[in-house]
Amino acid sequence: MLGELEMVKAMLGGERRVVVLTGAGVSAESGVPTFRGRDGLWRHHRVEDLARPDAFAAHPERVWEFYNWRRRLVGGCEPNPAHMALAAMDRQIPNFLLITQNVDGLHTRAGSLRVLEMHGSLWQVRCTVCTHAREDFSELPDMPECPVCGHLLRPGVVWFGEPLTPGVLRLAVAEIGKADVFLSVGTSGLVQPAASFCQLAKEHGAVTVEINREPTPNTGLMDFALHGPAGDILPELAVGLGE
Ligand code: NAD
Ligand code: ZN
Repeated sequence: MLGELEMVKAMLGGERRVVVLTGAGVSAESGVPTFRGRDGLWRHHRVEDLARPDAFAAHPERVWEFYNWRRRLVGGCEPNPAHMALAAMDRQIPNFLLITQNVDGLHTRAGSLRVLEMHGSLWQVRCTVCTHAREDFSELPDMPECPVCGHLLRPGVVWFGEPLTPGVLRLAVAEIGKADVFLSVGTSGLVQPAASFCQLAKEHGAVTVEINREPTPNTGLMDFALHGPAGDILPELAVGLGE
């Protein structure tokens, strides 16, 4: 009899449409903190209290210090076997989309091409006043200024309480609605709207699979739950696909 992992692997073949949702857990093995539990504080501040527009309005220097620290930290991290396996799936599965809640850019660095960065990227910056926006991997000053209008730049990420970039949610929902297989990897299922994607996938008839170090609030919704490190499980799923 096939184990759960082999059954999931068999479903990734053929012409099946596969949508993967990733969260902070997929980057944990690269050394990027997930900001839950023990990792939840930065210099005595809760991350939820920094990653929000009112915090930036009140203390832009503190919020920029936090983001410059994250940019340096992530810049020193490498994609791990979980990112590499997802990039391999991207190459081998014809109908494939990776939706990530992560802002670290590690999926792209691992070679994934079809990636929807729902919450933006640490490597994007944009002006708080004009339309200037750019990708920037350089070391930024403490309070970076717009080269066009001189006003303050902000990180190109979606903060708590902000809407997603127009079109992103629509595309995610449309692709999940067509998916045959939906994998939810390294996400706690606590942050909306990603939290409701599993429910949506299920309602549209996809086979749902959770890959996580531990059970989550979504585990009960899942057809399959593969519990363990994403860096162990995803390479096992990806190996030999497309052969
Ligand atoms: P989360 O921190 O709420 O949950 C992380 C999940 O990953 C947990 O369920 C945990 O059990 C699991 N996990 C941890 N290590 C794992 C491993 N090695 N293998 C498999 N699973 C593992 O993360 P979230 O659900 O993504 O929500 C937090 C929000 O903050 C999201 O918007 C997220 O993208 C953002 N965030 C992003 C980053 C990043 O870009 N790397 C880091 C922290 C937070
Ligand atoms: Zn500007």
